[in-house]
Amino acid sequence: TADSEALADELASRLEAGDRRALARAITLVESTRADHRRAALALVSRLYPKAGSAMRIGLSGTPGVGKSTFIESFGMMLVERGLKVAVLAVDPSSARTGGSILGDKTRMERLSRRPEAFIRPSPSRAELGGVARRTRETILLCEAAGFDVVLVETVGVGQSETMVADMTDIFALLLAPGGGDELQGVKRGIMEICDLILVNKADGDLRAAAERTRADYAGALRLMRRRPQDPEGFPKAMAVSALRADGLAEVWAEMTALFEWRRSAGVLEARRREQAVGWMWQEIRAGLFERFASSPRVSARMPGLEREVAEGRLPPEVAATAALDLFGAATPGG
Ligand code: GDP
Repeated sequence: TADSEALADELASRLEAGDRRALARAITLVESTRADHRRAALALVSRLYPKAGSAMRIGLSGTPGVGKSTFIESFGMMLVERGLKVAVLAVDPSSARTGGSILGDKTRMERLSRRPEAFIRPSPSRAELGGVARRTRETILLCEAAGFDVVLVETVGVGQSETMVADMTDIFALLLAPGGGDELQGVKRGIMEICDLILVNKADGDLRAAAERTRADYAGALRLMRRRPQDPEGFPKAMAVSALRADGLAEVWAEMTALFEWRRSAGVLEARRREQAVGWMWQEIRAGLFERFASSPRVSARMPGLEREVAEGRLPPEVAATAALDLFGAATPGG
């Protein structure tokens, strides 16, 4: 514990001084599952917590090929040229399942990655999605303590990852490609509801007119949605952009800052961050309980038998689950 505290102290002061290697090391520490690393990571996060919260946290989602890396490269370069420090993090559900990665390969965002004002961190691999997102939240705090003004969290439009990213950011943008037809590209209603901005990308050349039509379709659909208490007039909003030509990106930034400032002065930004923090505490408790459950010797000794009995139809799953949980409870002091 003394070692963990010492490591946390050292990393905290180097990181706050803007040492990028210390930031990278701190993130690696936070991503590690080793018990001693975890202790040091928690000590570090506690130390830096009072300094956190200073960045605009932006979530960005979109299916592969829609132009996320191109957008982040152009958008990030624009912000950096305006004197802002930009961190880019990735939550990649594919690496959780397959060990492969859709996001975060090193060749992406080449110009931005060379800028000293930018920091790009690929998605941690070999973890379940909940785990990846857990560490990303802590990584946002580290980036804020290191003085980044904007933290962009990128994810692919797959299942739960979007909700998780929306739950750790202030503003959520969905990137779409121009649609061919009049249908709304099967974007799920749930996703529309967490969106602040729908950005129809590739509004250039031959695709320009199609992008404008798609934008208008979404603008229409958004107008039919109930106005949310966290929104000023006119949000959520649909815009057409060209990431490749950096067209419309200044407008996107203007809308984001206007929304952010509005929410800040209306008090909804702080309220939402507080709510998110409580939500993440419960998320941690759920994940932590499951880890403890699965690694309990009494439970793991009994699980293969219970699985077999359930698979063979001899025991109802509910009864088996209750038996396993009772075993865990009996193994927990005070449980
Ligand atoms: P990601 O998988 O979402 O990260 O998408 P990429 O950024 O890798 O882009 C996928 C493809 O779309 C690449 O060939 C890009 O050059 C192209 N692309 C991205 N943005 C634009 C754009 O604004 N206009 C056009 N025409 N192509 C784009």
